[in-house]
Amino acid sequence: MDTSPKLPIALKTLEILENFYPDAHCALDHRNPYELLVATILSAQCTDIRVNQVTKDFFRAYPDVDALAAADIPALEEQIRSTGFFRNKARHLKECAERIRRDFHGIVPATLEELVTLPGIGRKTANVLLGNVFGIPGMVVDTHVKRISFRLGWSHHQEPAKIERDLCELLPAQRWTQAGHVLIAHGRKICKAPVPLCGICPVADRCPKNGVKKYR
Ligand code: SF4
Repeated sequence: MDTSPKLPIALKTLEILENFYPDAHCALDHRNPYELLVATILSAQCTDIRVNQVTKDFFRAYPDVDALAAADIPALEEQIRSTGFFRNKARHLKECAERIRRDFHGIVPATLEELVTLPGIGRKTANVLLGNVFGIPGMVVDTHVKRISFRLGWSHHQEPAKIERDLCELLPAQRWTQAGHVLIAHGRKICKAPVPLCGICPVADRCPKNGVKKYR
């Protein structure tokens, strides 16, 4: 049982944010684990809107792991060029599909330990998949979650894995996935980098960094 006095405070803050962003959800279009895996790889350093534009045609050309494993790299690069870092992403996509075929019978694995063994898949992507297609709680730590966790005093670490651990200790498992969506929404709309809009923030009166001029 968590006896930390931070728990009820953090939960109340999260509840306020959940009510403020009732529609917060995974913004990457997908219909199955394979599609979310592809979309998440493409989303590195790219907007969700751009990824969704690209994946419409991508999923027609490469509808499943087998098609992607058999892909021609130059054609793959051309298809995803507009998402940036397209050479690395193309290589990771193809290698990922080959590994899933070889080691997981062509089925995207459903555990964090297995997912992070795939090329180009870190804990963030693995947690996106766990929470959004496998129904397993996953605490995603991206740049927004990292920044807001610090500002709210939920984690003072810099490394995503340590922030993830702090958040997982602070919040109940059944809230992890939605907490990620809500914090990302808050980071995009109000708690921005470098200067947050504290004047319109729904949790300003609970935030130790409210109105502070220097932010991380
Ligand atoms: S008060 Fe400011 S720094 Fe704190 S969570 Fe709100 S927007 Fe972010």
